[in-house]
Amino acid sequence: MTKKLYYESAYLQEWETEINRVVEREDGMYLVLEETAFYPHGGGQPCDTGTIGGISMLDVILEEDEVLHRVESVPAGKKVSCRIDWDRRFDHMQQHSGQHLLSAVFLELCQAKTLSFHLGSDYDTIDLELPELSPEQLTIVEKEVNRQAMLNRSITSYTVTAEEMARLPLVKLPKVTENIRIVEIEGVEHNACGGTHVASTGSIGMIKLLRAEKMKGNTRITFKCGGRALDECNNNQRILGALAAKFNTGKDEILGRIEKWEAEQKLLQAELATLKEQNDGYAAQELLSAQEPGARVIAHVFEDKSLKDLQSLAVKLTTSTELPVLLLTAAENKVVLACSGGTGFSCGAFFKANLGEFQGKGGGSDTMAQAGFPAWENAFGFYALAKSSI
Ligand SMILES: [Zn+2]
Repeated sequence: MTKKLYYESAYLQEWETEINRVVEREDGMYLVLEETAFYPHGGGQPCDTGTIGGISMLDVILEEDEVLHRVESVPAGKKVSCRIDWDRRFDHMQQHSGQHLLSAVFLELCQAKTLSFHLGSDYDTIDLELPELSPEQLTIVEKEVNRQAMLNRSITSYTVTAEEMARLPLVKLPKVTENIRIVEIEGVEHNACGGTHVASTGSIGMIKLLRAEKMKGNTRITFKCGGRALDECNNNQRILGALAAKFNTGKDEILGRIEKWEAEQKLLQAELATLKEQNDGYAAQELLSAQEPGARVIAHVFEDKSLKDLQSLAVKLTTSTELPVLLLTAAENKVVLACSGGTGFSCGAFFKANLGEFQGKGGGSDTMAQAGFPAWENAFGFYALAKSSI
């Protein structure tokens, strides 16, 4: 059995020990140490990384009370010095202790039990037994959990027997029945937990709740603690700063500017639609007057129109002529064919029968069809065929 130093102190970062055993497995070499402060995966908390004898230690797993460390290679000699990647571990301690405090506050204020905890590489989540949570409740919980953190309550851990455990007001009964480890936040809660924790709630730092969402009848809370919360604030600050610079204003005025900008956009869009409508009218007239007498189809190739423009122009034209209207845009290699109803001709059927030959994709109804082509040659080939055969 490996002596687990992480249970003696969560703050031990360096120690000397001996390699007891080397285990070769399919995914690499594992070391069993006489004593270890490297925390293995467990209880929602990811494992530590670090070095053993100067060699990178990549993964830690717990197997029947024995801690196995996956290493890049086996260090020379039996005696080794070990070092934890402290930034990573301390971050995990902040998130895990923050989770305990947050779960306790949700239980106290919303009578919501925590069903599960996930400590991700970017953010943390807890799933609460709670069908609904309002934004106001979320704000109240965030205020309270940060107030509790600032009270700097001590966080201690110890093991108890089953009888001693029975006398404690535990949040949830543990699966184990002996050597039960309790993590206690002074005056807040007793929790059976095997994780590593900061020494007092002040060390959690800020607890920032990012969102609440419904999840299979429960509520998932996404949050960040300590250094992660600071990074989140800095990132938001950076985005706000960039937005303020773009709108050439202070951050408090950004929303107002965006609303004004949206209103302007709406006006511009309306103006543009009117102008396009007028333009379509002129273009339609021009096309109609340019037709030779006896023409069986009104056809034209545009350089730079969009499919949408072709469609609205085609609709305009079919209200003034009984001839089919065939339009091609070189900008998008797209073709539109339209005709007024009652002629017995179907645009959609014509497309269906002839698109394949030109690798065109599209279709439509009897009165309007459209298609896109992989290249200009295909689009123009289809256009020429339609022009000559309709
Ligand atoms: Zn825990």
